[in-house]
Amino acid sequence: ITSVFSASGSGEGGEGKEEGLTAVLYPHRRIKITELVKAGGQAKVEEVKEEEPQTVEPPTPPPSPAPEPAESTAGPVQTSFLHNHAVSIVNVENLVTLPYNKDDQYIRAFMSEIVSVFKDIAQLNPLFRDQITNFSINQVASNVFDEPDKLADFAAAVSTDEVQELQYVLEALAVDDRLRKALLVLKKELINAQLQSKLSRDVDSKIAKRQWEYYLLEQLKGIKKELGMENDGKDKLIEKFRERAAALKMPEGVRKVFDEELAKLQGLEPAASEANVTRNYLDWLTQIPWGRHTPENYSLTHAERVLDEDHYGLSDVKSRILEFLAVGKLRGTVQGKIICLAGPPGVGKTSIGKSIARALGRQFFRFSVGGLTDVAEIKGHRRTYVGALPGKIIQALKRVGTENPVVLIDEVDKIGRGINGDPASALLEMLDPEQNNSFLDHYMDVPVDLSRVLFVCTANNLDTIPAPLLDRMEVLEVSGYVSEEKAVIASRYLGPQAKDASGLKDADIELDPSAVDVLIKYYCRESGVRNLKKHIDKIYRKAALKLVQDLGEETFPEPKEAEVTPSAGAASEVPASEEKPAAPAEETHESIESQEPPPNESAGTIESEHKDSSGKPTHEGERKEVTTQERKPMEIPASVHVRITPENLKDYVGPPVYQKDRMYAQPPPPGVSTGLGYLGNGSGAVMPIEAMSMPGKGGLQLTGKLGEVIRESANIGLSWVKSHAYELGITKSEGEQFLTDRDVHVHMPEGSIGKEGPSAGTAILTAFVSLFTKTKVDPDIAMTGEISLVGQVLPVGGLKEKILAAHRAGIKTIIAPAANRADIEENVPESVKTGIRFVYVENVREVLQEVFKGQAVTERWKDTLSTSS
Ligand code: ADP
Repeated sequence: ITSVFSASGSGEGGEGKEEGLTAVLYPHRRIKITELVKAGGQAKVEEVKEEEPQTVEPPTPPPSPAPEPAESTAGPVQTSFLHNHAVSIVNVENLVTLPYNKDDQYIRAFMSEIVSVFKDIAQLNPLFRDQITNFSINQVASNVFDEPDKLADFAAAVSTDEVQELQYVLEALAVDDRLRKALLVLKKELINAQLQSKLSRDVDSKIAKRQWEYYLLEQLKGIKKELGMENDGKDKLIEKFRERAAALKMPEGVRKVFDEELAKLQGLEPAASEANVTRNYLDWLTQIPWGRHTPENYSLTHAERVLDEDHYGLSDVKSRILEFLAVGKLRGTVQGKIICLAGPPGVGKTSIGKSIARALGRQFFRFSVGGLTDVAEIKGHRRTYVGALPGKIIQALKRVGTENPVVLIDEVDKIGRGINGDPASALLEMLDPEQNNSFLDHYMDVPVDLSRVLFVCTANNLDTIPAPLLDRMEVLEVSGYVSEEKAVIASRYLGPQAKDASGLKDADIELDPSAVDVLIKYYCRESGVRNLKKHIDKIYRKAALKLVQDLGEETFPEPKEAEVTPSAGAASEVPASEEKPAAPAEETHESIESQEPPPNESAGTIESEHKDSSGKPTHEGERKEVTTQERKPMEIPASVHVRITPENLKDYVGPPVYQKDRMYAQPPPPGVSTGLGYLGNGSGAVMPIEAMSMPGKGGLQLTGKLGEVIRESANIGLSWVKSHAYELGITKSEGEQFLTDRDVHVHMPEGSIGKEGPSAGTAILTAFVSLFTKTKVDPDIAMTGEISLVGQVLPVGGLKEKILAAHRAGIKTIIAPAANRADIEENVPESVKTGIRFVYVENVREVLQEVFKGQAVTERWKDTLSTSS
């Protein structure tokens, strides 16, 4: 036994139950068992040979390295002690290696081959190498590499082939045969070793590659971390999203989506474009104010105070808001509602929206859908689009940060028609209280509850609002203001606001109420007050300019200037020294002093080195001074007193836009009637209609920038008059031709204003009748109404504005279509109607009866033109 090592590798104590051992056995000599003597019995012959470098189970007695060379079985001394034990004893026969020639070619070749294979294996298998060295050291025998038989034995001894193969080597008594067999097992060992080493190499290289990658990645991480880039940033980002989400009350479904997206983001390379998309999405998802809202303030007194503070009148709107609050107070919650404020421009629709938000203590967001054609503006883009964004309402929620803002949607009547998809229906989906508690934005892709949003829409015209949308809205008409209302608005709201905005807050500058009246009458006739506001703003601006120009720089020195007029307590009290900085530097607002000081002033804001020899500042542009000091408002000397009266109003706002209410100082000739028109800017107007006839060929000419519809009205009117010429007493007999040799010209003055709409029908017809019957029309009568060819009078719009204009013009009688009666009685304020008599008509005959009442022609008409016919 040249070496033994534990095969199981576990414990080494012999105590172990089934412990295996690997022993390397090297043969000394060959024996053959001829007889087995059982313990105490007779001998049996068995062929058992030695040399097995295989595992040998300890319990089985190792074949004893044959004791004595003696032939006898009769207990030689050395083994006799065994007889007392149950040990088998064998008789053996010695085998002798056949003689051979050491220099035999074959033998030598085998030997060198075996040696070379040894080397090969030793290179591949370090364990094998150890065994060889071990063996060579331990070996008592002479150099195995010189003896072919021993070499063969050795080769077999260190090989681990099958037992049978090894046995063959043992049994081979001819040396060349033994060498061949040994070489065979050795070769197998080599192949084994080669295979083993290849496998291990493969595995090694795989592991090495992975390790290399891992190593590189770790380094990359380290580098990025050093640079404060990416990975760390992603972690922070995810942390941020988590924090944000934790502060929100996301619904279950949304939370799930959030978690999924977050997990997705975690797995993505930060540079990947998809990561960007996910990040943006998460950003939006966590910026929608899930569950966050401003506490509701249902105090009626507070709301009333706020609404009155901001707006005069508008009682409908205000009481609607109070209703809303009362319901909210009782129920504890309010469902979102759509309020639609309809009315002409400048009547405060938008600004009341703002004060509703203030009254309710909610956030305010405004957007306009005028001309909007893209559904995506409302519903958002799908997330896959480049630059995709959610729709407006989601943006609104993000901006205001609460779930219950007041959202003002301007110009719903001007919403466009999309090429793909209809924005109006998208808007409907968003507004409809029935379905907007789970509004699905394309980008967000999770239902968002909009039911707590209070929607306020504004529109100029209800006709163009898509019907389904209009259906769901609660329309509050904000009709224009009458003169008295405008006067109050001007004195209580617009005036003080404008004064403040012009820096004249504490100055004694007064806009006389009579001047305001003139403004309203001759400058700003629109039903809204925006134009009036503009004029009042202009007045105060002009006043400010005049004030500064008149008092000059002595009173209002530039901050750098040293002078302080004794009379005026200039706000920035600057000691009279050039070097001193202008104002105390408490404020740090940035402003750029680039304006040139007035030319009459010798020293300005520009520092001394920027002045030329004459002390005048060098021209601007050389160097702009930069400062962080905020300018203080100037105090206006108490000596200033300005009155703006009707007399000096012209100096502020120029000559009146509207010269007078009546065109005709004297009663006009026959052929002139008075119509009522509605102009595009939301104002009504009293419009005279002039008709004249002249020799010609029976043509009709129309001037005054008339639209197609008015031209048609004129044609209808003329046809009606022609067909009723005999009844009207224009012709002598029924069959008489009329107007065959004359042309008719109709003109509506103020030709610069375009006139549309059918409402002038009755007035044109009246003008024709007046012309042909040569009967004057009372200029105190005005009329409006569309006519049909057979003489029906049809209803028209814009009555409040028209009546307002009539009121201003001192009209005493208005002839209006009967179908407009309810409208007038309901919606037009009493104050405007006082002093005006309303005559409601269904047929043009009634118009004519009314207009020409008491005139000679009506005597005849009693027979020919009775209203019943
Ligand atoms: P709209 O949206 O109807 O076109 P705005 O809301 O922009 O008009 O109103 C124009 C201006 O008129 C605003 O500055 C507003 O403050 C003012 N205004 C309108 N109506 C009133 C009112 N009833 N009381 C006070 N100011 C008003």
